[in-house]
Amino acid sequence: MDADPMDTTRLDDDLRAMLAEVESDRRGEPSDYLEDVAGQHVDGLAAAVCTVDGHQAAAGETDHAFALQSVSKALTYAVVLQEVGLDAVLERVGVEPSGEAFNHLSLHDDGRPYNPLINAGAIMAHAVLPAGDHEERVALLVRRYSALAGAELEVSQDVLDAERTRADRNLGLAHLLADAGQLPVSAREAVAGYLAQCSVTVTAPQLAVMGATLAAGGTNPVTGERVLDEWVAQQTMSVMLTCGMYDATGQWVAEVGVPAKSGVSGALLGAVPGALGIATWSPRLDERGNSRRGIGIFEGLSARWDLHVLQHRGALRGLRVSR
Ligand code: GLN
Repeated sequence: MDADPMDTTRLDDDLRAMLAEVESDRRGEPSDYLEDVAGQHVDGLAAAVCTVDGHQAAAGETDHAFALQSVSKALTYAVVLQEVGLDAVLERVGVEPSGEAFNHLSLHDDGRPYNPLINAGAIMAHAVLPAGDHEERVALLVRRYSALAGAELEVSQDVLDAERTRADRNLGLAHLLADAGQLPVSAREAVAGYLAQCSVTVTAPQLAVMGATLAAGGTNPVTGERVLDEWVAQQTMSVMLTCGMYDATGQWVAEVGVPAKSGVSGALLGAVPGALGIATWSPRLDERGNSRRGIGIFEGLSARWDLHVLQHRGALRGLRVSR
């Protein structure tokens, strides 16, 4: 069944309207790493979308490049699934929401981190990437992230330097994983690579294309390149839905209903299967570390565009007998 044609001018109009609605909200604090990054303004705002058939729209500071930070966790999970397969990944990291803060050490009894979107699980997922050393792992990720975005992405040295001076907690988590005999590489190497993936920068339109690639089942709708298998996109969006907003995920699913991943840069990535990718950037965070104005934009767009993935869509229609 073909969907009715879409009025794509509405994408731009609605994005601009949503930005205008949240613009004046100055609540929340930006992450402290930004103090050490040149050219970062904490009241910046951008939003972009890309549909699975390649229509793009954007509003706000669409040229500004920000760090992926924890948004990279979802992307690395996709890459490692693609590279080594689901079973090999699940041996090292689970898929259960932890209900704890992102930097909490939430481990199953067998020593596996709860899921790949908290720091412990993300460090593990990074360490499982098949590569000889930390530089190769980062190079593999930058190549795959670039294919997902359809743009040449790179690691920001400024952001990486700022992250390295604040790495104690992540090193602590990695040493505990190593002590439990779980980490396939050294704690130092895993954290060095993980911090580099967090420091890859993107613009909002580039991030929206990454979301659209997931939403389209792994084929980049702008370049036409198949980057991930369909099952990988599905597994990645599954953990984004159940774990992507940390300990605010339950409320997020109830109110927004979009598989998503947040980062402390103020980045927010959403992917609605079969529909579109959405990206927002606004650095002021709530107490859970999620972008305040970003959440506002997603709430508004979900309501306007019927994006909740659990919305009733006439299941079993194909089983009905026409009379
Ligand atoms: N680099 C940060 C960290 O690991 C990312 C955290 C985040 O974006 N929530 O602590």
